[in-house]
Amino acid sequence: MSWQIAIDGPAASGKSTVAKLLAKKLNFEYLDTGAMYRAIALKTLNLGIDYSDENNFDFLENTTIDFNDSRIYLDGVDVTSEIRTVAVSNLSSDISKYKVVRERLVAMQRELANQKNIIMDGRDIGTVVLPNANLKIFLTASVETRAQRRLNERKEKNQENESLEQTIEELKKRDYNDSNRKISPLKQADDAILIDTSAMSVNGVIDLITSLVLKRGYSMENLEEKNVVNENEEEVSQVEETAAEEKGASEEVSEETNNKAAYKEMQIVKGVVVEVQEAQPERKRGNTVYKAKEERVLIELEDGQQGYLYKKDTADIADDEDLFDVFIEGDEVEVAIKKIFDDGDVFLFSTVLVKKRDELLAKQAFFEERPILTATVVKKVSDFGLLLKYEDFTLLLPYQLMVNKPEDVSTLVGKTIDVVPLRVDLARIRVIVSEVLAVNKKKKEQKKEFLSKVQVGEVFDGKVVAIEEYGAFVEISEGVEGLLHISEIDHNHVSKVSKVLNIGDTVKVQVISLDNDHIKLSRKALMTNYWGDYFQDKKVGDVVTGKVVDINNAGVRVDLAQEVEGFIPRSEYSWFKDVKVEDELKAGDEVTAKLIEIVHSKKRVILSKKQLTENPYENVVVEKGEIIDVTVSNVVENGFTVSYQGIEGFMNKQSVNANKVNDIKVGDVVKVKVRVFDREKRVFFVSMKDAEAKMEREKVTKYIKSQDKMTNTIGDYINNLKK
Ligand code: C5P
Repeated sequence: MSWQIAIDGPAASGKSTVAKLLAKKLNFEYLDTGAMYRAIALKTLNLGIDYSDENNFDFLENTTIDFNDSRIYLDGVDVTSEIRTVAVSNLSSDISKYKVVRERLVAMQRELANQKNIIMDGRDIGTVVLPNANLKIFLTASVETRAQRRLNERKEKNQENESLEQTIEELKKRDYNDSNRKISPLKQADDAILIDTSAMSVNGVIDLITSLVLKRGYSMENLEEKNVVNENEEEVSQVEETAAEEKGASEEVSEETNNKAAYKEMQIVKGVVVEVQEAQPERKRGNTVYKAKEERVLIELEDGQQGYLYKKDTADIADDEDLFDVFIEGDEVEVAIKKIFDDGDVFLFSTVLVKKRDELLAKQAFFEERPILTATVVKKVSDFGLLLKYEDFTLLLPYQLMVNKPEDVSTLVGKTIDVVPLRVDLARIRVIVSEVLAVNKKKKEQKKEFLSKVQVGEVFDGKVVAIEEYGAFVEISEGVEGLLHISEIDHNHVSKVSKVLNIGDTVKVQVISLDNDHIKLSRKALMTNYWGDYFQDKKVGDVVTGKVVDINNAGVRVDLAQEVEGFIPRSEYSWFKDVKVEDELKAGDEVTAKLIEIVHSKKRVILSKKQLTENPYENVVVEKGEIIDVTVSNVVENGFTVSYQGIEGFMNKQSVNANKVNDIKVGDVVKVKVRVFDREKRVFFVSMKDAEAKMEREKVTKYIKSQDKMTNTIGDYINNLKK
C-alpha cells in the first residue's frame, strides 16, 4: 500500500514549499494540485474561450497534464513558469468552482496517487481527493504573512508583481472563492492537523510534519534508503561533471552550484563586466585539446555566478567594432541568460535578447489588441509548435492552436500563416499566437460584413452543415449559417429532414427573414409549388380531368398535374355495382371526375366519377313488394340485370318460372315484384315468380270479394270456380 500525505490550506500558506521539501526528504512523489488548476486556467486563457460558462470546458477531455522533474507539462508543453502569473492565479480560483473541472482533475489526481507514495497539496485533498490519507495537514498563516511570502516568491522568480495591499486583496478574494464555492470548498478535514506557520521557519514545519509521519508508522528504513539514493545521485552528477569537463565546455566552472537552479533561460539579470577576454586559438595540453575561443566578455552576477557574452549576442555593435570598444571592466550591464549549460554553471549571455525584450515591451500594447498578423514560419520547435517571425518579433504557434497541422510541419517553413497574438511572453521574449483564433476572427469579420449587406429575398447556393429534427443549418457564406426550417424544405410534407437533405449537400435557398444574426432560409420558396398552383382555383365539387395512371384493387389513380395525383375509389366510380372499372378504363385514358375531398397536409385528392351524375337511387319511387315493369338489360350467369327508373336491379334465375327462363331476352319488359330496395346500399332485387304469385293471389281475392255479395260459403266459391 502506498503512503499518502494530504496538505491543504489557503493560498500562499507555504503548502507547496513544505510539500516539495518534505517529498524530497521522505522520497515521496509530490503533486501540486494547484498547478493543475492553474494549467487549466492557462489553457482557458490561451484558447480565448468564455470561461464564465461551464459548458465551454469540454476541451478538458483532450487535455493532458504531466509532471516530470518538478516541471508541469500542459498538453506536452512546459508551462511551469507561465502558470504563475497573477491572471492565471485569479482565473484558477474562478474555474476551480466548476464541477466539470474538479471532476476531471480529482480523477487525474487519484490516479496519480494510486501509483506511489505521495504528498499532495491543494484545497480539497484531505476532504475529497484522498479521504483515507495516512496523514492530513491543514497549513495556514495570517493573510499578511502569506501575501508577503507570495510577493517575495514572485520577486525571486522575476515574475510580475503587485503591491502588498494588492496581494493581500488577491489572496483574500481567492480565499473567499475557495472557501465558499459549492463543490469541494477549502475546509479543514475533521482528522487534519492544523499548523499555523505564521511564526515558524520552513525547516521547523518540515521537522514537525516528519515527526508526525514517523509517529503514524512510516518506517525510518525508507528514509535511510533515501540517503543511499542520494549518495548514488551525487556519484552520478560527479560523473556527469567530469564528462562535461572533458568536452571542454566548462573549463572555468565556478565551484558554487547552489544558486544555479534559481535562474532560467531567457531571464534578464544584472551583472558587472569582470573582463573582456581576447580570442584564443585552439590549444593542446597533454592529450586534451581545448577549443579555440572567440573574444568574449566575462560577466558576474550579483550572487557571484559568471557567464560569457559573445559578439554575436551583443546588441548595437558595429561589424568593425570589437567587444573591447563597447565594454570596460566594472561596467554594469543588463543581460539575458541565453543558455545555461547543463554541465556547469557557466551562462551564455545576450544583450540582443535584452534589446528584443525592450522592443517587445514597446510593441506589447499593439499585440494585446489581438490584430491578425501574417507571419513567416521559421522552424519547428521540438514537439510542441512552430516558431514564426513577424517583423523582428518571434512568435510561437503551439500545434494545438493550428487549424490543420500537416503530417510534416517542416513543409511549412518559409510559408506564411495568419495568426492572432494570445499572450506576450516577456520572460521568453516571444508572443504566443493562435491560428485558430485568426481563422475565427476572420470568419467573424467576414460574417459581420456579410450580415451588414445581406437582404431578404437574396438567393444562395448553400451547403448543409448540420441537421436537426426541426430543420437544417445551411452555410450561405463562409461562417454564416441560416436555418432552413423543416417546413421550408419542400412544398410536399417532409417527415424527416434527413430524408431530403444530407450534410454536405448543396442547396439553393432564399433568405426569408433576418433578425440580427438569425437568418431564416427557404428552399421551397424557390421551387415550383405544383400542388399550390393546381389548387389555387379549385375546390371540392369542381370537375377535373386527368389521366389514368393505374387501376388497382382499391380504385383508379389519376394524374391531374405535375406532382398532383387524384384517386377514384372503386365505390366512387359508378352508381352501379356491376359496372367494372376495368371494362371502361385503362392506363393512359383520360377521365373526368368530381373533386370530393382535398387534404392539403397529406396531399390527398379523392375523386368521384359517379357523382358527376345524380344518384339514380335517390329519385327512384318504388317500395318493397310493389309490382313493377322492368326492362331486361342483360343476361348474366345466374340471372338477369334489369333496369328501372335509371337504376339497375338483379333478378336471379330462381325467381323466374323454369319454363320462362330461357325465353327471356334483353329488352323484354317483364312484371316483377320488388324483393329488396335499399336506397342506401343501392341494392335492388326483383322476382318474376313473386310477381306472378302475388298477381294470382290478387285475382283470387278480387273474385272472392265480387262473389261475397251473393254467397258466403266456400262450397259456393268452389262451385263457381268449376263453372
Ligand atoms: O495552490 P494554488 O494557489 O496554486 O492553486 C490555485 C487555485 O486552484 C486555488 O486558488 C484554488 O482555487 C484551486 N485549487 C483547488 N483545489 C485544489 C488546488 C487548487 O480548487 N486541490
